[in-house]
Amino acid sequence: MAVCETCGNDYDIAFEVHAQGAVHTFDSFQCAIHAMAPICEHCAARIIGHGVQAGEHWYCCAHCARQEGTQGIVDRVMAGMSR
Ligand SMILES: [Zn+2]
Ligand SMILES: [Zn+2]
Repeated sequence: MAVCETCGNDYDIAFEVHAQGAVHTFDSFQCAIHAMAPICEHCAARIIGHGVQAGEHWYCCAHCARQEGTQGIVDRVMAGMSR
Protein backbone atom coordinates (compact mmCIF):
# COMPACT_ATOMS: atom_id res chain seq x y z
CA MET A 1 0.00 0.00 0.00
CA ALA A 2 1.18 3.48 -0.77
CA VAL A 3 -0.20 6.86 0.21
CA CYS A 4 -0.60 9.63 -2.35
CA GLU A 5 1.56 12.66 -1.54
CA THR A 6 -1.05 15.08 -2.82
CA CYS A 7 -4.37 13.90 -1.41
CA GLY A 8 -3.37 11.25 1.12
CA ASN A 9 -5.37 8.51 -0.56
CA ASP A 10 -4.18 5.03 0.42
CA TYR A 11 -4.34 3.27 -2.91
CA ASP A 12 -3.23 -0.25 -3.77
CA ILE A 13 -2.16 0.63 -7.31
CA ALA A 14 -0.42 3.89 -6.56
CA PHE A 15 2.65 4.61 -8.67
CA GLU A 16 6.02 6.23 -8.10
CA VAL A 17 7.55 9.14 -9.95
CA HIS A 18 11.33 9.40 -9.84
CA ALA A 19 12.50 12.96 -10.38
CA GLN A 20 15.76 14.72 -9.56
CA GLY A 21 16.89 11.95 -7.22
CA ALA A 22 13.67 11.89 -5.21
CA VAL A 23 10.82 9.40 -5.33
CA HIS A 24 7.24 10.63 -5.18
CA THR A 25 4.14 8.48 -4.74
CA PHE A 26 0.76 9.32 -6.25
CA ASP A 27 -2.58 7.57 -6.72
CA SER A 28 -3.37 9.29 -10.01
CA PHE A 29 -1.87 11.41 -12.75
CA GLN A 30 -4.13 14.21 -11.62
CA CYS A 31 -2.37 14.26 -8.26
CA ALA A 32 1.08 13.86 -9.82
CA ILE A 33 0.46 16.81 -12.13
CA HIS A 34 -0.89 18.90 -9.27
CA ALA A 35 2.22 18.27 -7.20
CA MET A 36 4.93 18.25 -9.84
CA ALA A 37 3.97 20.15 -12.98
CA PRO A 38 5.57 23.58 -13.19
CA ILE A 39 3.33 26.56 -13.91
CA CYS A 40 3.79 28.77 -16.97
CA GLU A 41 5.04 32.16 -15.81
CA HIS A 42 3.08 33.93 -18.52
CA CYS A 43 -0.37 32.33 -18.67
CA ALA A 44 -0.28 30.27 -15.43
CA ALA A 45 -1.17 27.04 -17.23
CA ARG A 46 0.13 23.78 -15.77
CA ILE A 47 2.98 22.57 -17.94
CA ILE A 48 2.08 18.98 -18.74
CA GLY A 49 4.11 18.60 -21.91
CA HIS A 50 7.74 19.44 -22.53
CA GLY A 51 7.32 23.11 -21.79
CA VAL A 52 10.00 25.68 -22.39
CA GLN A 53 12.75 26.41 -19.89
CA ALA A 54 14.54 29.73 -20.14
CA GLY A 55 17.14 29.91 -17.40
CA GLU A 56 15.21 29.69 -14.14
CA HIS A 57 11.90 30.39 -15.84
CA TRP A 58 9.31 27.94 -17.14
CA TYR A 59 6.74 28.51 -19.83
CA CYS A 60 4.15 26.24 -21.42
CA CYS A 61 5.23 27.15 -24.95
CA ALA A 62 7.63 29.30 -26.92
CA HIS A 63 4.84 31.81 -27.52
CA CYS A 64 4.55 32.51 -23.79
CA ALA A 65 8.33 32.73 -23.42
CA ARG A 66 8.42 35.34 -26.17
CA GLN A 67 5.58 37.28 -24.55
CA GLU A 68 7.77 37.54 -21.44
CA GLY A 69 10.65 38.85 -23.51
CA THR A 70 12.74 35.69 -23.76
CA GLN A 71 14.61 35.67 -27.04
CA GLY A 72 15.73 32.75 -29.17
CA ILE A 73 13.30 30.19 -27.79
CA VAL A 74 11.72 27.68 -30.12
CA ASP A 75 9.41 24.84 -29.19
CA ARG A 76 11.44 21.67 -28.85
CA VAL A 77 8.92 19.72 -30.86
CA MET A 78 9.20 22.19 -33.69
CA ALA A 79 12.99 22.22 -33.51
CA GLY A 80 13.09 18.46 -33.67
CA MET A 81 10.83 18.37 -36.71
CA SER A 82 12.98 20.78 -38.67
CA ARG A 83 16.08 18.57 -38.39
ZN1 LIG B 1 -3.95 11.64 -4.83
ZN1 LIG C 1 1.86 29.79 -21.14
